[in-house]
Amino acid sequence: MEFDHILIRYGEMAIKGKNRKYFERKLQNQLIKKLSKFDRTRVKKRKDRMYVLLNGEDPHTVMEECKKVFGIHSLSFAVKTDKEEQLIKDAALFALLEDPTVKTFKVSSRRADKSFPIPSQDLNYKVGGHILANTEGVTVDVHNPDVELKIEVRNDAAYITSRDIPGAGGLPVGTSGKSLLMLSGGIDSPVAGYLTMKRGVQIEAVHFHSPPYTSERAKQKVLDLAKGLSSYGHNIVVHVVPFTELQQKIHREMPEGYGMTIMRRMMMRISERIAQKREILSLTTGESLGQVASQTMESMNAINEVTNYPIIRPLVAMDKLDIIEISRKIETYKISTLPYEDCCTIFVPKAPKTKPTRENASYYESSVSFEEDIEKAVALTEMIEVSAEQKAEDLFEDLL
Ligand code: ATP
Ligand code: MG
Repeated sequence: MEFDHILIRYGEMAIKGKNRKYFERKLQNQLIKKLSKFDRTRVKKRKDRMYVLLNGEDPHTVMEECKKVFGIHSLSFAVKTDKEEQLIKDAALFALLEDPTVKTFKVSSRRADKSFPIPSQDLNYKVGGHILANTEGVTVDVHNPDVELKIEVRNDAAYITSRDIPGAGGLPVGTSGKSLLMLSGGIDSPVAGYLTMKRGVQIEAVHFHSPPYTSERAKQKVLDLAKGLSSYGHNIVVHVVPFTELQQKIHREMPEGYGMTIMRRMMMRISERIAQKREILSLTTGESLGQVASQTMESMNAINEVTNYPIIRPLVAMDKLDIIEISRKIETYKISTLPYEDCCTIFVPKAPKTKPTRENASYYESSVSFEEDIEKAVALTEMIEVSAEQKAEDLFEDLL
């Protein structure tokens, strides 16, 4: 026996009233795209749920892909059988054994086809008895079972579903507009990107690169992070900004204590211009209060002065340990902690101002013209599109 489809439930989306159809269509499209690597899977919609028909594809491999699609509340493996008592019993036992750690269960039957001779309650007992007779150490618990096996007897067949497996949650990517993620090689910004995508936002990324102070490897690391994020929804365009000249100029001409603040302000200005060009309406950063010198309230205030774009900061109130936990879960942690240098660490002053002010930053900046440098950096920005299908090694090999 084998599972032949996966049942998909979408919680939050279901309450979206008028927009519901739109969300469902986006979710269905995301699923179809995600599963396009399998030749035989099909995604079907029916009432408040969707089904992936496996047509012989490996259920567990397909499940792993479905678990990455935002907008899904929970999933279950399911098996379809003819409406015969023995077949239903065997299927239910099979569905229970899908998770070998299960200790307690409950059977819930629904008989949509009233011509089926066994009433629901009787079917529950019969199937439950069959499971008890064929397992060891498994008992019934009708109040708080590890697994609720659901049996639906419909006109065409009987459907048996296994335990609920948690989905990625959130909203389908593409339902909440677009944001430009400022992506460094660190731990935080990929997590910020993930959380933004989870709310249905499509992202592009911008990365500030300072060769030769930062190596090709450091850039590759960022492309690999973007690639990791792209597995949660869509190909990601990464804008790689040549930042060396501006950084050198800041280093040369600005007071050391304000180097960091002014560098961040330049990043914001450039990011805003790229966003404008790409018709993107917001920026996203991995800033989190109190982590480093650039992330004090004063610093945020001074940096934010240069743009009136909305800035999404999903991590602003999160603890570092919680951020790390997410980065492990989404598998960006390993890449983020590779040792390649970051453009910001290179020119970091020995004693950055932790309490910069807008007035001082503007005053220092006004003594030198940066406009041409900003324009030039935007003009020379390289656009690279990454997709989840590219292997990390392939990306690396291009450089060797
Ligand atoms: P991260 O772990 O994301 O690098 P961080 O804790 O190191 O963050 P900062 O160095 O203060 O914090 O950076 C704050 C935010 O600024 C980053 O999360 C990112 O959004 C943005 N940023 C920093 N450096 C770069 C860069 N080289 N290119 C693009 N964005 C950057
Ligand atoms: Mg960093």
